[in-house]
Amino acid sequence: MSRIVYVNGRFVPEAEAHVSIFDRGFLFADGVYEVSSVLDGGLVDNAAHLARLERSLGALGMASPAAPEEIVRAQKELIARNDLDEGVVYLQITRGPADRDFAYPAVPRPTLVMFTQEKALVDNPLAAHGIRVVTVPDVRWKHRDVKTVGLLAASMAKQAALDAGADDAWMVEDGFVTEGSSNNAYIVTGDGVVVTRHLGREILHGITRSVVLALARERQITIEERPFTVQEAKDAAEAFITSASTFVLPVVGIDGEKVGDGTPGPVTRRLREIYVESARAGIDR
Ligand code: PMP
Repeated sequence: MSRIVYVNGRFVPEAEAHVSIFDRGFLFADGVYEVSSVLDGGLVDNAAHLARLERSLGALGMASPAAPEEIVRAQKELIARNDLDEGVVYLQITRGPADRDFAYPAVPRPTLVMFTQEKALVDNPLAAHGIRVVTVPDVRWKHRDVKTVGLLAASMAKQAALDAGADDAWMVEDGFVTEGSSNNAYIVTGDGVVVTRHLGREILHGITRSVVLALARERQITIEERPFTVQEAKDAAEAFITSASTFVLPVVGIDGEKVGDGTPGPVTRRLREIYVESARAGIDR
């Protein structure tokens, strides 16, 4: 597979794409990113992803090298050049190359890269059977609402899950679940209430989270945005995760214990259906 990728205004074959070894994204994880899903060749929830990108950049005092309209044009051109029907467009902005120094460069030259990844998002086999998670301590930094490329703690959590024979990790702080390694975490109580952690610096403000909660509220599903414990999750009727690349995905086991009857529950399945339908209806070509 040889993709066409985007680097600082140019579309190039992936083997010819280069970023400096002095790039601060490489040396300091000094960069932010976004992942927008692509369905039927069109972008899903992309305006919200680009709005969050602006907030992440602002939090790090970084300026975008391209206006949002230019970014959207480049995303669409990448989708077209790679003939992408279903998958994701990844986008990363770093503070760019500068001689190594902890202080920010006086005149930053930000790096902007984008690439596509083909993935079966709707017919994800994990949606039918659900995933199993293990809980791990949340050892990330304290600004998890900023979507930075400092993802080592999340990567270690995911690997610990795979090493334990599970699919993903839920991170726990002070006894409460914060979120998944790369997704937001939810439980459904016995009386059908959807519970997910409230927004704050402790979690990423998921775009899929905000859309799914709005769709659920429109359908009179009760939402509680509050912390929940691992025990509450193990005792819940259902559990699930959301993210741009997984949509709504059932969680059927936590630390080796079944959630509910160990199969995807009705509220989770309905929310997945509703989300996919709404994503399809709103895609941006
Ligand atoms: N939390 C974390 C830690 C994530 O990395 C992600 C996805 N990158 C999410 C939540 C989900 O966010 P979104 O729905 O915007 O993809």
